[in-house]
Amino acid sequence: MLRVGINGYGTIGKRVADAVRAQPDMDVCGVAKVSPDYVAVGAVEAGYDLYAVDDERIDEFRAIDIDVAGTVDDLVEQSDVVIDATPSGVGAQNRPLYERHDTPAIFQGGEDATVAEVSFNARVNYDEAADADYVRVVSCNTTGLSRLVAPLEDAYGIEKVRATLIRRGGDPNQTGRGPINDTVPNPVSIPSHHGPDVQTIFPDLDIDTIGLKVPTTMMHVHAINVSLENPPEDDEHVRNLLGNEDRLVMIPDFAGLDGAGTLKDFAADAGRPRADIWENCIWEGSVTIQGNDLYCMQAIHQESDVVPENIDALRSLSGHLSGPESRSLTNETLGIGF
Ligand code: NAD
Repeated sequence: MLRVGINGYGTIGKRVADAVRAQPDMDVCGVAKVSPDYVAVGAVEAGYDLYAVDDERIDEFRAIDIDVAGTVDDLVEQSDVVIDATPSGVGAQNRPLYERHDTPAIFQGGEDATVAEVSFNARVNYDEAADADYVRVVSCNTTGLSRLVAPLEDAYGIEKVRATLIRRGGDPNQTGRGPINDTVPNPVSIPSHHGPDVQTIFPDLDIDTIGLKVPTTMMHVHAINVSLENPPEDDEHVRNLLGNEDRLVMIPDFAGLDGAGTLKDFAADAGRPRADIWENCIWEGSVTIQGNDLYCMQAIHQESDVVPENIDALRSLSGHLSGPESRSLTNETLGIGF
């Protein structure tokens, strides 16, 4: 049983903790958090041992009757692997802590690629993490793009990818984020940083990305154009190809799932935890071949698409299952696929 410590129990950390707990071959040995707030209370109620980032913080937790098992140093000591889901940039500061304990760690996409030996996507480079001590699961947008690029590259070859990312302004709990009434080029420079990040997974891929932020917390939406080397004859071929991928879901026209709002409503109705959508949601009607060019649109649930990737990264690091075996176990235990 792999003992996994979760350092940073926020949007990503709490989801990864629950996903680890759902696996038959790993368990959560504790979660570390900075603030004694409702999320900390939730962690204790969920039965996780809670660790504070340092000694001074322990009293703050105890002041609101939250029992603290120790500091993050104690958590790392007990863990076989740490999931670092702290805010962007903090992960890199934490790496010396993991090195001191000789404990492998998995970082998140907010960190620079240099934080780890490997940037990871389970569909593309599962085996590369096997020999690494430090792995970075790429961001929500990069994960969504990589899952789509992989089968297209395998089946048709890719000349160039152009993607416009319509990004959610913030997560639902990020009350201070925006815009609240605007559409903002973000970043204004082109290409945006997303393209180079996808190249950490596909080093030879020609890709340009453009980013904008809009007033929603639901999901990102990508408008994508891929120039193919050997395009198929019709749209149907691409739909079948993408529909056979385990973490891509084709949204049929008849379903009435006309946007991120209805997708999230559907996920809630389906009883998904936190209304999470781990899969890329590709609108079937948008999948269009014109000459050498493929067009499509997909929605990416920023809070959850990286969760199964973290589980597979844990297995790759610990080295006891192959990529397909791990992906299939993760899919089955989480209930991936509508
Ligand atoms: P978050 O702010 O929701 O959670 C971060 C957690 O880390 C909080 O619980 C906070 O208390 C804790 N924390 C802060 N400083 C800490 C420290 N020094 N030590 C231990 N814990 C500390 O952040 P998030 O959205 O979960 O993002 C975490 C990482 O995942 C980032 O790299 C981010 O870029 C990446 N990511 C986020 C999303 C998203 O949409 N939220 C999607 C994909 C990847």
